[in-house]
Amino acid sequence: MNGVQFKTFFLLLFTIKIFIKLGLDLMNYCYLKKHAAIIPAELATVIATEQMHRINSYNIAKIIFHSGRFLFSSLLLLFFLFSPLYSIYTNWFVSFPMPYLFQGLLFFFTIHITTWILDLPFDYFFHFRIEARYGFNKYTRKLWLGDQLKSIFVGSLVSAVILSLFFLLWGENFIFNWSYVFIGWLATVLLVVLLMYVVPILMLPIFYQLKALVNETLTANISELFSRSGLKVRGIFSADESKKSTHANALITGIGRSKTIILFDTLLEHYSDEEILAMTAHEIGHGKKGHLFKLMSLTIIELFLFILFVSYFLAADFPYQAMGITKILYSGLFAAYIFFFDLLTFFVQPLFSSYSRTLEYEADDYSKQLLGSGAPLQSSFQKLIRNEMDNINPHPWYEAYYYSHPTLLKRIQALNH
Ligand SMILES: [Zn+2]
Repeated sequence: MNGVQFKTFFLLLFTIKIFIKLGLDLMNYCYLKKHAAIIPAELATVIATEQMHRINSYNIAKIIFHSGRFLFSSLLLLFFLFSPLYSIYTNWFVSFPMPYLFQGLLFFFTIHITTWILDLPFDYFFHFRIEARYGFNKYTRKLWLGDQLKSIFVGSLVSAVILSLFFLLWGENFIFNWSYVFIGWLATVLLVVLLMYVVPILMLPIFYQLKALVNETLTANISELFSRSGLKVRGIFSADESKKSTHANALITGIGRSKTIILFDTLLEHYSDEEILAMTAHEIGHGKKGHLFKLMSLTIIELFLFILFVSYFLAADFPYQAMGITKILYSGLFAAYIFFFDLLTFFVQPLFSSYSRTLEYEADDYSKQLLGSGAPLQSSFQKLIRNEMDNINPHPWYEAYYYSHPTLLKRIQALNH
């Protein structure tokens, strides 16, 4: 492959991605409009016509907003990579009198911080206009900015560690070498495992105040649920989401001994003990059925393919020719990252989504078995649809492509069987 062919291939795939993404958004939008008045029988008792209107208009606002945000960032990225800007940008860093490791880190950090700044107005609009209009936003401007700064800091730190590893391993040696592939892969896997281990211990406390549950009956019931299931976790904590939004959630994070269950305080406040138990049992299901491990294994396979691809990519001439630059490691790495993680993974997304949905059904089923009834989980889902204002009628293709969880309506129906 030569530079021109690669450029054409890249641009073609990118255009297809934009068309699929916007096409699915448009289909989802039209489908929602068409089914706007249809309240499914399962929800008739909890959702009135007035609330249905609100749910629909919230979802329409979100579809339009996310399409705009996506189009803006995609066109900007294309312009950056395939206009003379990319070679000017690259050459600017090459001219810095410092080792290439620091040139490379600075190269990525500048892109990271620029994207972050360009996205800030979108994020602000989302929280303080859309989310606020529908009563979800609880962020003050100060807290929102604090969270933004924390996430750019954590993101930069994590990516600096991973990037340093790549730079140190490859050096400025542009050859394909299987030992680089395996060493790079093993080191990245170790880092990913370590990161997953520390998420509940080091990462979550940066963004949330985690506290032991205060409701003693609930705590006792949850402990009883854990001993019956035999799942060992580091702890179960409430997180102060109420300072940021009214969205409720329950999740399990960490691996091995760091496995932790997090319940948002918004969930603890608005849902009955029975419903919270059912949702906790769902999370236990994820843990017991080895879902975290399965998803991690997939990530490990994906990383192997990525590193294999990157080593081939960095050694070839075509990526550099396509963007009009000389062989510079970090410049090639960024293009490889966009091509593989941003572009190719988009096309396999439906496979991941579909796999993830089967895991969700499994966890729901586990909750039903452990509690001896699916009714509390069903009632929590009904409440979630009403409170979270989930799209009740997503387009089936949109759902198949993106949804990592089946719609709550489908989960309610599945629990009947
Ligand atoms: Zn789940």
